[in-house]
Amino acid sequence: MRGLMMDSPLTLSALLRHTERLHGTREIVSRRADRSLHRYTYRDCLRRARQLGAALRGLGLKPGDRVATFAWNHHRHLEAWFGVPTAGFVMHTLNIRLHPDDLAYIARDAGDRVALVDEVLWPQFEKFAGRAGFEHVIVMSEQGVSPAGALDYEALLEGSEPEPFVDIADENSAAAMCYTSGTTGRPKGVVYSHRSQVLHTMMSAAPDVFGAMNSDTVLPVVPMFHANAWGIPYSAAMVGAVQVLPHRFLDAASIVELLESERVTLTAGVPTIWLGILDYLDANPTRHDLSALRCMVIGGAAVPESMIRSYEERHNLRIMQGWGMTEMSPMGSFTTDRAGAPRSGPASHRYRATQGRPVPFVEIRARGDEGLVPWDGVTMGELEVRGPWIASAYHGQSADAAFTDDGWFRTGDIVTIAPTGELQIQDRCKDLVKSGGEWISSVLLENHLMGHPHVAEAAVIAVAHPQWQERPLAVVVPRANCTPNVDELREFLAVQFARWWIPDAFVITDALPRTATGKVRKLDLRAMHANAYAGASRVVDELPRTA
Ligand code: AMP
Repeated sequence: MRGLMMDSPLTLSALLRHTERLHGTREIVSRRADRSLHRYTYRDCLRRARQLGAALRGLGLKPGDRVATFAWNHHRHLEAWFGVPTAGFVMHTLNIRLHPDDLAYIARDAGDRVALVDEVLWPQFEKFAGRAGFEHVIVMSEQGVSPAGALDYEALLEGSEPEPFVDIADENSAAAMCYTSGTTGRPKGVVYSHRSQVLHTMMSAAPDVFGAMNSDTVLPVVPMFHANAWGIPYSAAMVGAVQVLPHRFLDAASIVELLESERVTLTAGVPTIWLGILDYLDANPTRHDLSALRCMVIGGAAVPESMIRSYEERHNLRIMQGWGMTEMSPMGSFTTDRAGAPRSGPASHRYRATQGRPVPFVEIRARGDEGLVPWDGVTMGELEVRGPWIASAYHGQSADAAFTDDGWFRTGDIVTIAPTGELQIQDRCKDLVKSGGEWISSVLLENHLMGHPHVAEAAVIAVAHPQWQERPLAVVVPRANCTPNVDELREFLAVQFARWWIPDAFVITDALPRTATGKVRKLDLRAMHANAYAGASRVVDELPRTA
């Protein structure tokens, strides 16, 4: 017997139609490039989003065509988030922190026909745009001044009548794309569908997860070009929460000012930002009233227990931790206030320093050398996941070692799983360093270093850092009769990589520790240099810069 329910496709068009009709008067507050505040309603925003859809159609775009964005978090970027997928196109958020060579490759690989670019990011955009193959470049600016050859966003909208959101018949059609760092090879494209976006939105807004409500005011510090912005633009829109967007002003004082003046109740971002804000609040303990803030969701990298404790004890602010991946839309697990979990004191801080339990529909298992490991909180294995908002393949690739034969995705994270389901990330088997929430490939750095005439071998490892969570450290074995100069090695890398990729320290040594099969023992290297950056200072004002 078949169920007799309507088979309405789960699409962002349906989701945003609800927002426009029911939450039209709720507010969207955004900083402009000059730091001033812009305010309008969801109704205004969605009308402009529908104008954008019409304008893109006017440029000749066909369903499924890719539209790239190269922008900070602000109201025009949100219009693209709303207007591009609901016009039947695919929104591809380019990560503004990547190297121009990677950006050129990514835009070509995705087949982006159009790019929407922030005026203030134009100098960075220019470094790769010529190689990216865009047919149209649209500049988002306040003054409507666009560089030669580019279209002006405001003029384009003005010339377009808003059209209704397109009824997307197939909920599995692509809605958005986001690239993830490859360990060795090129970045890989993750393609979200309308269905996966809607299901992810519904679950992330659920009470034991982000728990976004109509009465909330949400400030996503997590960039809209990073890991699908943790789905926040859509979950806030679905429930009609006020959204507050910080543009490029991510320094602690600017964020705190917004949290306070807009009475933000829910916010989300990576630990590096929140470490900076913690220092700022410690230095100005009585100046700010953040009493409206009911929850700070922090994830993207491990959240130190000391940070959870400090915020709670010194500022009465509560942190919940989320773990996820670009390939997972990104939500995977969350530290809920479940029955039986400690609510306060050191036990609660410890609990919330775990990565929490998988959210419904995300299945987890961990695999060790001997097969699947028990959920005993002790045995380590590589985490594998599956679920309706988890990638089943990468764009343009028929097979990838990240996917198991029985349809699970290998995360590259080494975990223990407690009998009660809490995940604890212990290590990472992917050869990457996560600095301030952004990836650095150790393998690419090593390979390049080994091209230096004085270097025989090199290994790059992630070392804990008080500001950036992790920073790369290079261990270098010189060729016979050579003495590599560290400044020279830095310059050698700087030709190829963004400045923030360059290791903070270089250790010159006679030999690298190896396994019986000849592989470099990175675990040993990590243990040997675990405290190398312990004394580094913490001056958090901005995320790592691009090239
Ligand atoms: P991305 O695709 O850039 O979001 O990176 C996903 C990876 O970031 C995961 O596979 C983890 O290695 C790491 N990560 C994300 N969230 C956390 C967390 N809460 N704790 C520890 N590592 C995390």
